[in-house]
Parts: sequence; C-alpha cells; structure tokens
Amino acid sequence: MVFLFGGNKRSDVTATNKEGLVGAMTIAWDDVYKRNVIMWKVPRNIRMNDNIVVREDEIAVFYRDGKVLAYIDRPDRYALTSQNAPILGGLIQALSGVKQQAEVFYIQKKVFDGKFGSKQPYQFRDKEFGFVNLRVFGEFRYRVNDPANFINQFVGTLNYQTSAEVEERIKEQMVVLVYDALGHLKEKGMGVTDLAANLTTIEHVVLEKSKDHFGMYGVEINKVSGLYINLPEEVQKAVDARASMQVLGVNYMQYQTGQAMRDAAQNPSGGAAGAGVGVGAGFGAGYVMMGTMAQSMQQPPPGQATPAQTPQPQGKPCIKCGANVPPGAKFCPSCGAKQEETLNCPNCKAEVSANAKFCPNCGQPVKATVKCPKCSAENQPGAKFCANCGEKLQ
Ligand SMILES: [Zn+2]
Ligand SMILES: [Zn+2]
Ligand SMILES: [Zn+2]
Repeated sequence: MVFLFGGNKRSDVTATNKEGLVGAMTIAWDDVYKRNVIMWKVPRNIRMNDNIVVREDEIAVFYRDGKVLAYIDRPDRYALTSQNAPILGGLIQALSGVKQQAEVFYIQKKVFDGKFGSKQPYQFRDKEFGFVNLRVFGEFRYRVNDPANFINQFVGTLNYQTSAEVEERIKEQMVVLVYDALGHLKEKGMGVTDLAANLTTIEHVVLEKSKDHFGMYGVEINKVSGLYINLPEEVQKAVDARASMQVLGVNYMQYQTGQAMRDAAQNPSGGAAGAGVGVGAGFGAGYVMMGTMAQSMQQPPPGQATPAQTPQPQGKPCIKCGANVPPGAKFCPSCGAKQEETLNCPNCKAEVSANAKFCPNCGQPVKATVKCPKCSAENQPGAKFCANCGEKLQ
C-alpha cells in the first residue's frame, strides 16, 4: 500500500492507519505542496518497515532526541528493513527494536528567492548627522547546503517546525548581516550620505559575510541584490543638497564650514554636534548658510565667512542701519555711520576687524606686516627684529 503525504495534513487513509508495528507505510512529499516551501515535517513518525520516497529535488532528514540521525539526499524509494542496513547504516540501527521511531523532515534542494526588510530601524552613528535611523530592504537567493546543520539549528535549537518559521528567521538574519556590513563600512569611514552611491559595495560585503554567518544554519546565500536603504527625510534632503552644492561650485570643505558655523550659532558653548540637536532644524540653518556661502564664493573679495552676514548681492550691511554698503566704502550711504575697517586674514581669509591683532577664526596674527618703531619699515608678522634696521620689534 502506498500513501502519499503532503502539506500539513495527512490524507484520510493515513490518518486512520492503525500505525501498528509493521507499518509498511510509504511516505513521500507531494509536489503540489512544495511550492515556496523550503522544509516540511512529516506529521507521522517513521519506523522500521516503512518506505520512504526521496526525489531528485529533495533531502529526507531523520531526527530524534534533539539531533539528526541521518539524511538521504540520493533519489530513490527506500524500504526501511534490516536488509537495507548496508545502505542505510545507522538509520536502520536507530529504528530497530520496539517503538524506535524518528521524525522526518523533507528539505528542498533548489534555490529560493527571498526578500528581506528591517522591522526595527538601524541606528547608524554618522559623524555629520549623529544617530540616523536607517531601514534596509533587499532581495537574496539562498539554498540549504548542509541538511544536518540546517535541521539541528532550526529544529534542534530553535524548535521550528514549519517552513514559514525557518524562512522568517533567514530573512531576519539577512537584515542582521546588512547591519553588520554597515557597521563595518562605517568603521572604514563611510558616512550616511555615501550609502546610496555604494549599494553594490554593501551587497558584496553582505554576500562575503554571509559565508561565515550562515554556515552554522546550513544555509548558503548565492546572491544579494536590489538593496535599498531608506534614509530619514531630513538626511535625504542633505544628500540632495550636496548634489546642488556641486552645481553651485561649493565644495565639501565649505559645506562643513557652514555646518560648523551653524553649530556655533545654535550653541555658543560649542559641542552642539551629536548632542541630540534636531537634524532637520539644524540642517535647515546649515542649508541657508550654504546659500550665503555659495553667493559669497561668487563675489569679490573672496572668502567672506562672517556668520553675521546675510546674503547681499554686493558689499555688506552697514554696522548701524543694515543698509547695503558698497565694497570699499568707509561710510554708510544711507545713515553716514563710519564703517569699521576690515581686512582678510592672511592665513584663512576670514574677514576680521582692522583693529584685531589676531584672527578670531584661526588665531593667526592678522596684520600683514609689523611696522618698525624706529625706521617705519614693514616687517613680516611675528618677526622679532626689523629686517631694515635691526631694531628689536617685540
Ligand atoms: Zn548705515
Ligand atoms: Zn585666520
Ligand atoms: Zn626698522
């Protein structure tokens, strides 16, 4: 008599079988139940004198007391009798005797295509944006490459009995792997704004890491593709802004300077970075600053970088009334107030007061020259003696 099993239910015939000592029941996995199911547990334990059918695309694993007894991956119809002991070896031995049974799991050999996606966001600690919540999605291809490890891990360790539980676990582990890869690349200096341009690299790193990681599950990852990393809206805006910066001709250093000035403006004591300042609001300020800088870059004199400045087509605002004062003018054309003379730091080009001795931005002496008190010759800043007459200068 032949009874075929399939899916999660036994047929009426097999359900009413008395399951006597001499079972002689034939067990097989119906093709109609195989689609997208990586593993199936036969609902009835197997024992001596049963027959088991193993097809080309599947592996039968025999399991008892928390570990795999044996598995068969060559297609055939096997009669579990002592006559087959030379072929089936330890399995026949294990099944011999009264009530010696084993659970049977079928596993498909073929590759499966799966999709993964994070349920919980990943906190990426970015040096520019602080903690950024990421979500990752992707596709992968996998297969069982070690049936004993596979059953020991999923059934023995995790007590999973269904294919759905197994697949869920594999997908979760894929997400973990992507997170691992992100952490690894972050150590190497990858920032959150670099992620989008490096998805293929990340896929490769994940695939490489999968060998060790999935080895203990008896699973092999053949392919990782379609990786997508979802950035929070405000970070995505920053990525877009960076693209516009390139159009404006502002480089990354200038962008960073804009960010630093924004931080300083928000928190005079310093240390705004990473202190939980809202990235959205902060970035907005930074972005306005960028606009200012982009304009500054395009007008002479170059390198105006005073935070108090607002965008002006030319010149700068009057220190008293805010009206536009043309470049070089000593007095405001609107209110007549004397404008403080400024010059650019010879070191960093920041605009500083003409009366300042040191640049407030970089700390270097800002006077281009030092006048000798004796002969009035102009000397290099920091010079100890006059190059003209030898007079001690300081
Ligand atoms: Zn004025
Ligand atoms: Zn300076
Ligand atoms: Zn001199």
